[in-house]
Amino acid sequence: MQLTLWTYEGPPHVGAMRVATGMEGLHYVLHAPQGDTYADLLFTMIERRDRRPPVTYTTFQARDLGGDTAALFTRALRDAAERFRPEAVIVGASCTAELIQDDPGGLAESAGLDIPVVPLDLPSYSKKENWGAAETFYQLLRRFAAKGAARPATCNILGPTALGFRHRDDVTEIAGLLSRLGVTVNLVAPMGARPADLARIGDAAFNVVLYPEIAGQAAAFLQRRLGQPFTRSIPIGVGGTRDFIAEVAALAGVDATPLLAEEASRLPWYSRSVDSTYLTGKRVFVFGDATHAVAAARVARDEMGFEVVGLGSYSREQAREVREAARALGLEALITDDYLAVEQAIAEAQPELVLGTQMERHTAKRLGIPCAVISAPVHVQDFPARYSPQMGFEGANVLFDAWVHPLMMGLEEHLIGMFREDGEFTDTAPSHLGHAAAPAPVSAPAPAPAPAHAPLALAWAAEAEAELRKIPFFVRGKARRNTESFARARGLSTITVETLYDAKAHFSR
Ligand code: SF4
Repeated sequence: MQLTLWTYEGPPHVGAMRVATGMEGLHYVLHAPQGDTYADLLFTMIERRDRRPPVTYTTFQARDLGGDTAALFTRALRDAAERFRPEAVIVGASCTAELIQDDPGGLAESAGLDIPVVPLDLPSYSKKENWGAAETFYQLLRRFAAKGAARPATCNILGPTALGFRHRDDVTEIAGLLSRLGVTVNLVAPMGARPADLARIGDAAFNVVLYPEIAGQAAAFLQRRLGQPFTRSIPIGVGGTRDFIAEVAALAGVDATPLLAEEASRLPWYSRSVDSTYLTGKRVFVFGDATHAVAAARVARDEMGFEVVGLGSYSREQAREVREAARALGLEALITDDYLAVEQAIAEAQPELVLGTQMERHTAKRLGIPCAVISAPVHVQDFPARYSPQMGFEGANVLFDAWVHPLMMGLEEHLIGMFREDGEFTDTAPSHLGHAAAPAPVSAPAPAPAPAHAPLALAWAAEAEAELRKIPFFVRGKARRNTESFARARGLSTITVETLYDAKAHFSR
């Protein structure tokens, strides 16, 4: 048992739903208790799809458990095949149905449908949503992928699904880049593909993997079965996009020089321009799925000039990549799906900006730290109406705007430091952001509860507290923390103005 309030990923059958909903002509028959249809809302409300996902639930109830739930499944499967007339069906069990062990795969086989049925074995108690999506895509390819013409300079784009963070616009952006390189896209999958399309996946010479969490396993399989190599670089940020272009050009045998010669993103100039000087060295904490977190850390350091003070992911399957990236930054990766552990790590690192998921948005709000979303899980506002890729050159423009926006503008930062007594520039309503991103007022109770193991709080003399308040609020937390650890190390019980300045001198050495 694990006490869980928030979870970064849903159960694996939600991953299977994301594949089925992204595709066309595929139906999912899910053995699940009444109530599991809540997952439809992810697609109809968060992603704002205009139709129900192609999922039939058996929705068994307590009274069905005394009867024949297997017959219920077979009936639901036959009804779905007749009503929706899909090209193929995937069948599986949700967490509760897994416990009653009706074996949807075996039942589907004996139902004798005249369309392909792909059984899914998704262990709900050990695996999660992304794993479920990856496994479903892999099983579909195992069933349908066939050898093809392997036409030169032709690729498939693998990984985008329904409910993917910016998948819709990433695909447009990357397809645009590929076409400018002279590379033909044979197939995009799972998103938009039909089961029959998967049979011609072998017509491409190589695969572009946009989201390794979802398509990594499939791409490795296609390499084994069809000999198709696949891309490793993730086109997020200008550096990532340039690496990606070079990698694709090498796989396709085309010349990338003209495309690489273009300064196709505004990010490099924007972050070099003098207005961005105040961004240099801003302390940033990064958390998300492995792909987005690792890419964001690179952009943060190399393209924005931030200092990355924390890097982590909830993607246990990709923990190795995150650990390597963290090591290169001189950090130890935080691999956890416990949002409280993430909250504690953020509170300890005292960053000036958090790049994370919807969860970190809540956490950062509580701690009074600006935050931008870089990865799923996300809420409805991160399925925007406007074009908002994360990938490619336009994606880099989007990243620049999205990450800088929550920060205090340079001039405001300067003015607040100088005129902190002024009513208009108080710490609590400091900026173009209005009240939303303002930290808790100084008179409010401390925003972050002290970790359970923390020693008793030190006393701050009134003058020392007043002096501390002169420090701009976005670095005040760090100053407080440094001073307290300095005092503790010296066995002091009260912090005076002198302690504050001694600590400052100590840490600036
Ligand atoms: S079967 Fe799984 S997903 Fe459905 S309600 Fe139970 S725990 Fe949640």
